[in-house]
Amino acid sequence: MTRDGAGFSVPDRLPTLPLRDVALFPWAVMPVLVGRPASLAAIEAAGDDGFVLVVSQRDADTAEPGSADLHRVGTVARVRQRSPASNDAIRVLLEGVARVRVTRFSARGGALRATVELHPLLHTGPLESLEPLSRRVASLFDEYVAVQRRLPVEVASLAHGSGSIERRAFAVAAHLAVRQDVRQELLEAATLDELLQRLAELLSGELELLGLERKLEDEVRDAMVRNQREFFLHEQLKAIHRELGHDDGNDLAELEEQLAKKALPDGVRDRATRELRKLRRTPPTSPEHTVGRNFVDWILALPWTERTEDVLDLSHAREILDEEHHGLEEVKERILDYLAALALAGTLKGPLLCLTGPPGTGKTSLGRAVARALGRRFVRVSLGGVRDEAEIRGHRRTYIGAMPGRIIQGMRRAEVVNPVFLLDELDKLGTDWRGDPSAALLEVLDAEQHRAFSDHYLELDYDLSQVLFITTANSLAGIPDALRDRLEVLRLAGYVDQEKLTIARQHLIPKQLREHGIDPATVWWDADVIPDVLRSYTREAGVRELERRLARIARKLARERVAGGADAPARQTVRAADLHDLLGIAPYDDDLRAAEDRIGVASGLAFTNAGGERLDIEVSVVPGRGRLQLTGTLGEVMKESASAALSYVRARASVLGLDRGFPRTHDIHIHIPAGATPKDGPSAGIAIAAALVSAATGVPVRGDVALTGEITLRGRVLPVGGLKEKAVAAHRHGIRHVVIPAGNARDVEEFPAEVRDATTFHAVSSMDEALQITLRDAPVILAAAAGAGMHAPATGAHPPPTAH
Ligand code: ADP
Repeated sequence: MTRDGAGFSVPDRLPTLPLRDVALFPWAVMPVLVGRPASLAAIEAAGDDGFVLVVSQRDADTAEPGSADLHRVGTVARVRQRSPASNDAIRVLLEGVARVRVTRFSARGGALRATVELHPLLHTGPLESLEPLSRRVASLFDEYVAVQRRLPVEVASLAHGSGSIERRAFAVAAHLAVRQDVRQELLEAATLDELLQRLAELLSGELELLGLERKLEDEVRDAMVRNQREFFLHEQLKAIHRELGHDDGNDLAELEEQLAKKALPDGVRDRATRELRKLRRTPPTSPEHTVGRNFVDWILALPWTERTEDVLDLSHAREILDEEHHGLEEVKERILDYLAALALAGTLKGPLLCLTGPPGTGKTSLGRAVARALGRRFVRVSLGGVRDEAEIRGHRRTYIGAMPGRIIQGMRRAEVVNPVFLLDELDKLGTDWRGDPSAALLEVLDAEQHRAFSDHYLELDYDLSQVLFITTANSLAGIPDALRDRLEVLRLAGYVDQEKLTIARQHLIPKQLREHGIDPATVWWDADVIPDVLRSYTREAGVRELERRLARIARKLARERVAGGADAPARQTVRAADLHDLLGIAPYDDDLRAAEDRIGVASGLAFTNAGGERLDIEVSVVPGRGRLQLTGTLGEVMKESASAALSYVRARASVLGLDRGFPRTHDIHIHIPAGATPKDGPSAGIAIAAALVSAATGVPVRGDVALTGEITLRGRVLPVGGLKEKAVAAHRHGIRHVVIPAGNARDVEEFPAEVRDATTFHAVSSMDEALQITLRDAPVILAAAAGAGMHAPATGAHPPPTAH
């Protein structure tokens, strides 16, 4: 047993615990992870609360250090705690007790054993003489703890604490972040003076380093913060400029330059200059700046004086209209009249052209052709769904994002003051609480007012007087009266198959093939292809669907060529048999069936936005109590027609061989199958009556007859509209006889020759006449009526009168 100076006794033979790169100082407490077998054996040999010799290896990398690998000065430590850390390691808490010198190492039972003697720290003079040096170390240590951020501040108190100078010195040594060899050197210090001296040196050295480091760090950080701040500010500024649509401050100068170059009416120039002056005073980031800036942009972008020269040559115009459009003779003539007036008068004061007809009949493309004929620019603005006056006239400039209305937007696109301006879908203009857009439109279209059109956004009069406005509509029905009064209506009724065939051959096919990069001369179309497409893949008055189908065929042809590569044949042939592959299942195949005679079903003809349409009117009559039921999407007028038809049948009950009590003894159901378009108007009257009579009497309606005409309570037949479209539709459906009101007989002249040739039109003035043509055995029934001397048909004769 060895005693140290403080009267502490430790064993002089101890198991050895080698440490790789730390040193344990007396009084220090240190956790150590022990894993090496020799070390584990040492801890084992020490037992709980036992002692070990803790000594550092000379080289941390030596795995199984022998006596030669270990320093000779170490520390006796008490094993304070043991706890398992993993399967083959334990964690122990060591408390340094006393500095010792090893006199001998010996291997025994796994652990290395050491024979030690105490190695107390001596001092040269009296202990008090070291006090100043010790205090200096303490204050340096204070500073050290303060600057290096690794140690908790409480540690500083160790250097000041109440323990001996030696204890305090070792505490400082234990907390210094220095290399292991320096630590060992401190542990081995020959005297206390030397230890303190060395500590003081080390601390000042460290402090200097740390100070330098900190200074550098601060400088770097400052520079970084400064750079970053500037970077962020620059980025923000750039973003703001980008957001506002300008790139730099020189922007305004540029605007001013543009303004100077642009030809502007005086009032407009003044206004723009004023705005620009204001812009200079508003910060670029403020909302006002954006609003003002957009305004100047608009003024610069709009045409105020720029114009194209008109080509006023009627024969040239005729050529262009013919070149782009097949047929449409009357429409072309009227357009040429219109252009002649323009050529003579210079401007147009008269009514406005309104091309009216079903979709795909060439309204838009005619507008474009007019522009080309005149050598003018073309712009098109759709009015479909415009419900708000502001869409025509713009929004006031009070908020960001306000814009001029569609008219001014159209002018901006036109880039000249005299374009052909197509206002599409006039009949789709809506009205609601936001104001009536048609009122604004009237101002646009009125020759007196359009010199000074006022857009809410611009707040400057804009002259529209040189614009050639053309409007289009599917039907006149949706157009407000005030507008309609100003329109010169040109009707495009739709095309019959022969016309469509020519349009397809001469216009649509070459156009679509070219658009798909195919030379039309390299594609051969079998004669029955287009008729088949028309019959089985389209059902329309115009040629829009047809064009879409042809485009699809063109796409497939193009694909075949590409897939074929160099081997692709130079010519391609389209056969009717290929249509299924090219276009898929034919949606209208079933329509080919010739309509057969049916009881209670008559073909009516309707005039809708999509042109003429055939509709089946179905009536069923069953014993009941006189109830009348109407189904399908029927308008009010249609319902009135139905009750008028019923009144007629009631009045003619006995003549038609019906019960006296009819219809009180029966329930009647009239159904007009729901189509794509809502149905209304009185023109289905005679068709409803025919179906009703057929259902009540059981006499079939001829399948090849269709009817159109209004019916009165007494069975007179009144004229209706849209005859041309209806005739074309009937023809399309393969109907051979069409019953029309006598009042419409003259319309027949307007029908396309192809329709007139294939169809017989029967002009009638009474329902009795209509029934004679429509019902299979009508002559029998009505002859009986004539015989009974009741309300004989007006012309009575059979065969019925026809109009060709
Ligand atoms: P709308 O404006 O009446 O709906 P479009 O002008 O858009 O119809 O016409 C649809 C397509 O049919 C266009 O490609 C157009 O060139 C073509 N087309 C219509 N009618 C004719 C015609 N008579 N001759 C040649 N092409 C026509």
